[in-house]
Amino acid sequence: KKYGVNELRKMYLDFFESKGHLVMKSFSLVPQNDKSLLLINAGMAPLKPYFTGAEIPPRRRVATCQKCIRTGDIENVGKTARHGTFFEMLGNFSFGDYFKHEAINWSWEFLTEVVGLDPERLYPSVYVDDDEAFDIWNKEVGIAPERIFRFGKEDNFWEHGAGPCGPCSEIYYDRGEKYGCGKPGCTVGCDCDRYMEIWNNVFTQFENDGNGNYTTLKNKNIDTGMGLERLASVVQDVDSIFDVDTVCALRNHVCKMAGKVYQENYKDDVSIRLITDHIRSATFMISDGIMPTNEGRGYVLRRLIRRAARHGKLLGIEGKFLADLSATVIEGSKDGYPELEEKKEFIFNVLNNEENQFNKTIDQGLRILNDLEEDLKAKGEKTLGGADAFKLYDTYGFPMDLTKEILEEKGYEIDEAGFQAEMDAQRKRARESREVTNYMGADATVYDQIDVSVTTEFTGYTTLKDESEI
Ligand code: ATP
Ligand code: MG
Ligand code: MG
Ligand code: MG
Repeated sequence: KKYGVNELRKMYLDFFESKGHLVMKSFSLVPQNDKSLLLINAGMAPLKPYFTGAEIPPRRRVATCQKCIRTGDIENVGKTARHGTFFEMLGNFSFGDYFKHEAINWSWEFLTEVVGLDPERLYPSVYVDDDEAFDIWNKEVGIAPERIFRFGKEDNFWEHGAGPCGPCSEIYYDRGEKYGCGKPGCTVGCDCDRYMEIWNNVFTQFENDGNGNYTTLKNKNIDTGMGLERLASVVQDVDSIFDVDTVCALRNHVCKMAGKVYQENYKDDVSIRLITDHIRSATFMISDGIMPTNEGRGYVLRRLIRRAARHGKLLGIEGKFLADLSATVIEGSKDGYPELEEKKEFIFNVLNNEENQFNKTIDQGLRILNDLEEDLKAKGEKTLGGADAFKLYDTYGFPMDLTKEILEEKGYEIDEAGFQAEMDAQRKRARESREVTNYMGADATVYDQIDVSVTTEFTGYTTLKDESEI
C-alpha cells in the first residue's frame, strides 16, 4: 500500500511506542548547549546528553521524528534521488536498555510487516567484524549470508573523535535496474541510486579514549536513523525524495510558477528540485527562529534563500515567489509540525524581506561591475583582478559565476587564481575565528561547503538582467 509521508511518520512512532518507547516531539533545528554543531543533522544530535550520561533520559527507550539540516549534502541536492539539505529523520533510541537483537528484529518487523516492503528487495550491511549483528540478520531474521554485506570502517563504524562509538548496520532497498548506474559491480553500497540506503542502526558499544584504544561500554546504546522521505520514496515506488506525496505537491507548485513541465529538461529539473529542497529548509529554519544574517546559522539560511531565489530566476520565474512556495511547505507539513502554521505570517515576512534584499544586491552588483568594466576599458586591460572580483562576491554578495558570465560575454576574464587566493585567506580567517571542536558530529566545515554553492555554474544572465530591471 502506498502510505503517505504523514501516515508513515505516524506508523513509525506508533510502532515504537508499542515497543515501550516514549515518543518525543522533534527538537528545534537549533542545537541547545552544543557548540560543536551549527544545525541539528541527525535524530541523535539533540539526545547527546542522554547518550553521554550528562542527563537522565525521561525513559530509556525514546523514539522521535527529527527535522534535520545537512549542508554537507548541498552539492548533491537536485542531482541524486536521495539527498536534501532538509529531511526528517525517524529514530528509535536505547540508552543502556535494549541492544542489537531488538533493534535489528524491530527494524525488520517495521519494514516488512508494518509497512509491507518486499523482503526480497531489502539488504542489510554490517561492520566487517560484527559477527554478532551478522548472526542476528542471518539466524534470527533468516537472511541468506550472501545477501548480508560486510563493510569497513568508513561506511559502517560510527565514530567522532574520542567518546562513545560503535559499528552500524544499514538497510538498503533495491529500487530496480532502471535506477542503476550500469557499471560492472554495481551492488549494495554503490553510490548510485539503485540500492538506496534507508536506515542506519548504530550500536554504540565502545569508548574510544582518543588514542584508538577501545573499551567496551558498560551501558550500550542504540541510535538509529531512517530518512522519512527515503522511506516514503520506496514505499510509494517513485523516482526520488522529490516525488513523494508532500514534497511532490511543492515541486508541482515550483513547476507551475516557472511554467515548466517536470522531466523535460535535466537542467531545469535540477533547479526545480533545488528550489523545492531549499524552500523546505528555509521555512523550517525560520520557524525555529533562525534569521538570515552574515554568520553562523543565519548565513546558512541566507545562502539557501538566495540560492533558491537565483535558481528561480534561472527558471524564468518573475517577481518574488518564495513566500508563496513556503505556504505549500506549511500545508504539507503542518500535520507533523504545528509551529509552521502558527508562525506562517512571520515566515512569509522574513522570506519577502530577504528576497527583496537579494534583488537589490543584484542591482547594486550590476552597477559596481559596470564601473569595474569602465576602469578596465580605460586602462586597456582584459582581466578583472582577483581582489576586485572577490570584493564583489564577499562584500556585496554578488554571485561569482554571474560576474564571470557577464564579463565573458564582453570579452573579459577574471583572475581566478587571485580570486581563489582571496577566498582561501577568507576561509582561513573564518576558521580561526570560530570555535572548532570535533565532538560527536561537529560540522565546522559548513561554511566551506555552503560557499561552494554560490560559485556553481550560472547560465541565466539574460533572465536575471530582465528581472533586476523591473
Ligand atoms: P548517504 O550515504 O545516502 O549519504 P548517510 O549514510 O550519510 O546517507 P546517515 O548519516 O546514516 O546517512 O543518516 C541516517 C539516514 O538518514 C540515512 O540512512 C538516510 O535514510 C537519511 N538521510 C541521510 N542524509 C540524508 C539526506 N541528505 N537527505 C535525506 N535523507 C537523508
Ligand atoms: Mg551522506
Ligand atoms: Mg551512507
Ligand atoms: Mg548511513
